[in-house]
Amino acid sequence: MPIATVNPATGETLRTYEALSPEEIERRLDLARAAFAEHRTRPFSERAALLNRAADLLDGDQQNIARVMTTEMGKPIAAARAEAAKCAKAMRWYAARAESLLADEHPAAGDVEDSGAVRATVRYRPLGVVLAVMPWNFPLWQVIRFAAPALMAGNVGLLKHASNVPQTALYLEELFTRAGYPQGCFQTLLVGSDAIESVLRDPRVAAATLTGSEGAGRSVASVAGDEVKKTVLELGGSDAYVVMPSADLDAAVSTAVTARVQNNGQSCIAAKRFIVHTDVYDRFCDRFTAAMEDLTVGDPLDESTDIGPLASEGGRADLEELVDDALGHGATARCGGRRPAHLERGWYYEPTVLTDVTDTMRIHREEAFGPVASLYRVADAEQAVAVANDSPFGLSSNAWTRDSTEVELFSQDLEAGGVFFNGMTASHPALPFGGVKRSGYGRELSGHGIREFCNVTTLWHG
Ligand code: NDP
Repeated sequence: MPIATVNPATGETLRTYEALSPEEIERRLDLARAAFAEHRTRPFSERAALLNRAADLLDGDQQNIARVMTTEMGKPIAAARAEAAKCAKAMRWYAARAESLLADEHPAAGDVEDSGAVRATVRYRPLGVVLAVMPWNFPLWQVIRFAAPALMAGNVGLLKHASNVPQTALYLEELFTRAGYPQGCFQTLLVGSDAIESVLRDPRVAAATLTGSEGAGRSVASVAGDEVKKTVLELGGSDAYVVMPSADLDAAVSTAVTARVQNNGQSCIAAKRFIVHTDVYDRFCDRFTAAMEDLTVGDPLDESTDIGPLASEGGRADLEELVDDALGHGATARCGGRRPAHLERGWYYEPTVLTDVTDTMRIHREEAFGPVASLYRVADAEQAVAVANDSPFGLSSNAWTRDSTEVELFSQDLEAGGVFFNGMTASHPALPFGGVKRSGYGRELSGHGIREFCNVTTLWHG
């Protein structure tokens, strides 16, 4: 993939970039290593001051960076501003809490004595240079939710961002530099994915985190496995959105629309499979379809737009193939299923609701990365769980019910890294985020996220 800004609303190539030379990559690895030697010893108060300064700068840059993101990957401009604000909030959250999240732990006195020690402590020490391979869909947030905890833990970051968001990638390095981070603490490597294996194998790199497709995750994890380096993987999702008869149906419908079309439908945690109890299925289907048809598709820089273009021509082609496969195997498009006729340029796709979806269709198993919803009718909660779990993915499910027995069943049996009841999945700095099955492993955010890239060190005193 060329490293370039191509406006998805027009298809125009606005700027192209040369990949870094091997010599420049080498120089940056050295810088990272040297920066880690110093950053690891920096007190939490200094790390927090740096991160808070970066958050303040980001707040000041909000309008500009939002415009850059929208131009590079097509998200509606209001959502781009909200993303920048969310990043600043997460930076402040980690700046305020990292020290207590990583405070020394003291095992119970009886256990310490039983281990033969006079005293024993668990200390969270940083691992070193962490490589972050990141996607374009939340081009600021995906990076910050790695960088904020990593930097607060005393690690340093090397960012390999998606090739279609180079300006956002360069902005991030500049942001941390302006905030006063010493050179090498956070660097952007403008390289293609073909350069990743050698960077990851380099002894100066300690670990890697990747958010993106299953294929990219498998490739990075196998190299890291071969080098015995820690990885966190946050891959795709095809999350279930279960609606039971006791749900507040109006709220379930309006939230379903947001949950499906957020970020033009290109979110790993977007609800993609809507599993609805037969007693409310027809009402849900009619109202949901009407609401999807009502959405405004158009220029993402226009404040009134609900859905902008997909981020790439290839991404739209993949989505079209999935929908065409479903229609060819007997699915019904209640709305959409095609490109909008009124938009000649750009990679737009109409909000689409598919019914009569069966397990013979690719969309039943694969992630639909765009504004396409699949509806399923089920007879009871047990069948809802069976359909929800009949997926290779397990990121974060949603369940709408007011029945406490069903709440307990879904809490226990839905195979996912999260279950959000009577609402939609959203990430928050205080809540662990990550999946099971093909959605990946490890957790981001919260205390769990900051500890992923730490050396959990046992200090035993005889
Ligand atoms: P990719 O997984 O290809 O891209 C994500 C990141 O991984 C990019 O930085 C990319 O670099 C890099 N990458 C890709 N292949 C490799 C590799 N073999 N080794 C190392 N790094 C690699 O996502 P796509 O943009 O191609 O999207 C494809 C599908 O992935 C989507 O349709 C969706 O299903 C899923 N996806 C999920 C995301 C999520 O949030 N979980 C985010 C994005 C995509 P480069 O850009 O240079 O190729």
